[in-house]
Amino acid sequence: MNLTADIVIMGSGAAGYSAADAALQKGKTVVIFEKRPFQGGVANCAIQYIVVRNEKAYQDKAFHLLYEYGNYNGNPKVIRRYVDNSWRTREFIERLGVKMEVADAVPLEDLGAPERADGFPPAINVHGDDTHALGRGRGHGGALVGLYAMRDIIKRGGTYLLDTPLTDIKLDENGAVCEAIGVHNKTKEEVHVSCKAVIICAGGVQDDPEMIREHTGFTYTGKDAPNGGNVTFNCFPNTKQTGDGHKLAWKLGGAVGNISIEGHDMIPGPGIETSTAWITYNQFKIMTEQPYLWVNKRGERFFDESLSNNHISTCRGIRNQPDRVSYMIFDDDTRKHLEEKVDYFYFVFPAEKLTDVRGQFKDLIENWGNKHVFMADTLEEICAQAGISEEGLKKTIDRYNGFAASGVDEEFDKPAQYLRPVKKGPFYCMRIYCGGYNTIGGIRINGDMQVIKENFDPIPGLFAAGDNVLNELYGNPIIAGLGAAYFAMPLGFAAGDCASEYIDRL
Ligand SMILES: Cc1cc2nc3c(=O)[nH]c(=O)nc-3n(C[C@H](O)[C@H](O)[C@H](O)COP(=O)(O)OP(=O)(O)OC[C@H]3O[C@@H](n4cnc5c(N)ncnc54)[C@H](O)[C@@H]3O)c2cc1C
Repeated sequence: MNLTADIVIMGSGAAGYSAADAALQKGKTVVIFEKRPFQGGVANCAIQYIVVRNEKAYQDKAFHLLYEYGNYNGNPKVIRRYVDNSWRTREFIERLGVKMEVADAVPLEDLGAPERADGFPPAINVHGDDTHALGRGRGHGGALVGLYAMRDIIKRGGTYLLDTPLTDIKLDENGAVCEAIGVHNKTKEEVHVSCKAVIICAGGVQDDPEMIREHTGFTYTGKDAPNGGNVTFNCFPNTKQTGDGHKLAWKLGGAVGNISIEGHDMIPGPGIETSTAWITYNQFKIMTEQPYLWVNKRGERFFDESLSNNHISTCRGIRNQPDRVSYMIFDDDTRKHLEEKVDYFYFVFPAEKLTDVRGQFKDLIENWGNKHVFMADTLEEICAQAGISEEGLKKTIDRYNGFAASGVDEEFDKPAQYLRPVKKGPFYCMRIYCGGYNTIGGIRINGDMQVIKENFDPIPGLFAAGDNVLNELYGNPIIAGLGAAYFAMPLGFAAGDCASEYIDRL
């Protein structure tokens, strides 16, 4: 099949449909290639869209907070693109006819305030309005947006090629994009689209363990982390996020940017999350929020555990430990405490107390065969099962119990109320890894959303947006921040604008 379009978009996720919307608004023709048989990408989920208000004071403050968050390593022009286009997310969704409710309107002075962090560093909470797309039934707002976006884009003349991965991009004799090629998964028919620009919006690399190893240093062996893996993801199953966009950008001479693990610490499965992310079999995800004793394999503490519900700081701490692994340990008194009141509730699972913690451990160990949680009468047994140094742990616990008795953490200044002693068996232990929804980053772009080479020259006609460029927002860390539709969409709108303006200048 041969087609012609101004702009080809690789991927129909949050960035892809936003880029298409912006390009159509500027009078351009678009073709979207989507490798999966369905539209919408990873954003086919319950989605909270937090939006920077379309007011200069909010946008400026959000800009400064994000730039500072990345230790000034992010690309300020890309950050500005995000901040200034964020409001379009809500406008677009409402234009599609999906209702939005504002769950929380945030005053300017509270932008980035610690108490708004919800598990992420305050600086990522730069948004004026915390909004939710109201889906049908419970929690399918994101999927509804993806579906309605496809219908709307087709109605406005756009073309969706589902089940058709984009496999190649051709440059003309001047090095400018001139053609995109895809192959239908089932019929194997080739589709050639003659075009002036391609926008890469192909998401992360979580289904390519080799890319993860090479670019992040982590080992991904699956959601249950068997065979020595040390990172785990809770992306939706069968998303097949294999970094196709990265590979094409790099093949065409695009510079290699950092690929980051987002930063949700997790106990690997089985028996914790169902096949759908964020729906769980038990309360282990709430347990990992708690600010008690966390140690590394040497039995040593490694951070102020009162930060344990700030997933990025926790993951950064874990990433810096031997084998990039951590353990949380508590005793039977703390088990009882948890059944009366959890210290940190989890915004996704708002339980205030836990039920039958011992039974939950037993079920996970005996019925699910989970190899990452441990329960034993003695610390010696816990150490033997979990692979923690017994000598190191005993030394740490002696000191830590002293801090608990005096109410003063002489090591990391953790507040006294979280200094719970570890004394009385049975003891409970969970192995916790770094993780995320997916990976983010890897493609370098400039402030005009153009893919750039090592020498910073843009590849004419090649643009990128969404999760695959978030390194530019966060400043290329190994453990990053949050990949979100509400980051991907504004960058998608910006890429649609920039690609259209590039074509107008030809
Ligand atoms: C469990 C979970 C909960 C989340 N909750 C939220 C939330 O509450 N709020 C929020 O804002 N974000 C949330 N996110 C994150 C959000 O979904 C992603 O950040 C967002 O979808 C990224 O958009 P994207 O367009 O960059 O990539 P994706 O949405 O991943 O889209 C990429 C698309 O490219 C396609 N593709 C890949 N290769 C090719 C190829 N060769 N050819 C053609 N197409 C290709 C993929 O199939 C996919 O459709 C959540 C994610 C998960 C997993």
